[in-house]
Parts: sequence; C-alpha cells; structure tokens
Amino acid sequence: FSKRMGPNMFSFYEQSMNADALKRMTIENHLRQALGRGEFALHYQPQFDLVTGEVCGAEALLRWHNWELGNVPPIEFISIAEENGMIVAIGEWVMRTACRQTRTWLDQGLPLQRIAVNVSVNQFTHTDFLNMVKSILEETTLDPQYLEIEITESLLVKNVPETTNILHALKKMNIRIAIDDFGTGYSSMSRLKEIPIDCLKIDKTFVDGIAIGKRDQSIITAIIAMAEGMNLRLIAEGVETTGQVDFLRVKQCQEVQGYLFSKPLSTQQVEVFFQKAFSLEKNLENTGDDVP
Ligand code: C2E
Ligand code: MG
Ligand code: MG
Ligand code: MG
Repeated sequence: FSKRMGPNMFSFYEQSMNADALKRMTIENHLRQALGRGEFALHYQPQFDLVTGEVCGAEALLRWHNWELGNVPPIEFISIAEENGMIVAIGEWVMRTACRQTRTWLDQGLPLQRIAVNVSVNQFTHTDFLNMVKSILEETTLDPQYLEIEITESLLVKNVPETTNILHALKKMNIRIAIDDFGTGYSSMSRLKEIPIDCLKIDKTFVDGIAIGKRDQSIITAIIAMAEGMNLRLIAEGVETTGQVDFLRVKQCQEVQGYLFSKPLSTQQVEVFFQKAFSLEKNLENTGDDVP
C-alpha cells in the first residue's frame, strides 16, 4: 500500500471488502435453509418460433424469495451454491419441479414442445447426475424428449472424456442438449463436433450488438451458418427490440427468447398466457369461418 493513500483510504478499502464478504455470508446462511423452507420457485420464459410465431418451448429459471433478503437474483446466489456444493440439491429440486410442471401442462393440453433446464458444471459432473435425471423422469412420467438440458461451453473443456460420456448417455436417453451463452466461452469447433448437441443459444451480448454494427452482426451470421451446417437448432437469447428481430429473421435464425416476446412467467402467468394465445387462435378461426 502506498503511504500516500493514507489511513482513511485503507480503512475504506477494508470496510468495502468486509461488506462484500458479509453479504456473501448472509446469502450463504439463508441459502442453506431455502430448500427446506420452500423459498424457491421456477419461472418459465417462453421461446418462440420466428417463422410461425408460436411458442415452441420454455426455459425454467430459478427464483428465490427470502423473508429477510427479499428477491435474490440467480446471479447473486448460483455461484455461491456452486462453490459450496448446494447446487446439487437445488439443481435436483429445479429438475424435479420443471419436469413435474411440464408433465402437468402437457396433460392439460398446453402445446409445449420442450422445457429447458439450466445445469451447472459441478452438478453435471456429480456422480449421481445421470441417475438423478433418470429417476425424476420416471417419477414424473415425463417423456424424455421434452427435456432439454442447457450447459455452458465451460463444461465442454472440463473433464473431457467424462463429460463426453455423460452427454452421450443423455442423448441415448433421448434428452436434448443445448449450449447456453454460446460464443462467450472457449469451446473449440472440434470439441463441438464430437458431442451430441441439438441446439445453440446465441448469447445476449451478440444480440445486443446487432444495432451497434458489423462486428456482432458478422458473429451472429457465422454462428447461424455453422448451426445450419451442423444441423443444430438455434435460439437467439435476450431479444429486446424489433430491429433485432428483423435482422434475425433475415438471417433465418429459427427461434427467439427475450423480453420483447415475454419475460419469465410464474406458473400461473404461463397458464394465462396460453389461455390468451388459445382464445386468440379460436377468434382467428371464427373470423376465418365468416369469410366466404
Ligand atoms: P441464462 O440461462 O443465460 O438465462 C437467461 C437470462 O437472461 C435469465 O436471467 C433471463 O431472465 C434473462 N433474460 C431473458 N430475456 C432477456 C431480455 O430480453 N433482456 C434481459 N436483460 N434479460 C433477459 P436470470 O433468470 O436472472 O438468470 C441468470 C442466469 O442464472 C441464467 O442465465 C443461468 O445461467 C443462471 N440460472 C438461472 N436459473 C438456474 C437454474 O435453475 N440452475 C442453474 N444452474 N443456473 C440457473
Ligand atoms: Mg439458460
Ligand atoms: Mg444464456
Ligand atoms: Mg448465463
């Protein structure tokens, strides 16, 4: 430390570090009780087919409401849960809740084609992961083809033989695999070639850049071409403007997800959303009948 910073400067630095550490500790302590207290919920963000305009799937996103901390966003607690291992139990709850809810919705006739569930690296490499997924699918009687597991590129470069085996085992079970935040990680093209993936999700940062200029546009164009060549589905994440949609449509990106179309919705909001879409469809059909 430079003497010129003076004693006040030092104590300010020290205090701010303590505040961060304290906040972390508070979150961690509350997190320990969160499952048992039923403080978690899942919200579901619809994904849309750009050609038909219809909902094709939804991504399950974890929400935590704590009595003292209020709503804590995933960005503030997921990494803590990953570091202390709690993500294994939390992730199992997420998987079970998402699968059970999807099964219920399918029984109610909601036209969902798939549910996407985020899975952390240390959850994925946990010894029981495959059995956990298998038994939840059995327990909820959800057909595995409805489940899409979202992993990030960082998983692909870690424990390569082991993760490759797990990915192939999931594929064999008829579960789909999507690469989340695609383009922000370090996976190589050759690595992508050797694993059984179904879908790439173009990260929001590239979508944000569409309005800014050629660089991000070129990256998206390249990712779209690659996905097409490899026969992968493609979802653009975090779509917020009609300008972005126009660009993605011209480039023939298949699917979109973002606030422009829908925010993540509570279970109840999802049902209202589908009811509205359904009655809209009915109205259109009725209008059609009147036309000779
Ligand atoms: P992600 O999987 O990439 O999820 C997309 C995030 O972008 C979500 O944030 C979603 O609410 C947000 N988003 C969607 N559309 C838009 C948009 O148009 N504009 C903006 N600004 N944001 C948009 P969320 O729910 O806060 O989740 C953040 C991250 O936390 C997720 O990123 C995922 O990595 C992680 N996460 C969330 N739920 C789970 C979970 O159940 N398990 C695990 N392991 N991670 C999760
Ligand atoms: Mg995701
Ligand atoms: Mg993402
Ligand atoms: Mg992410």
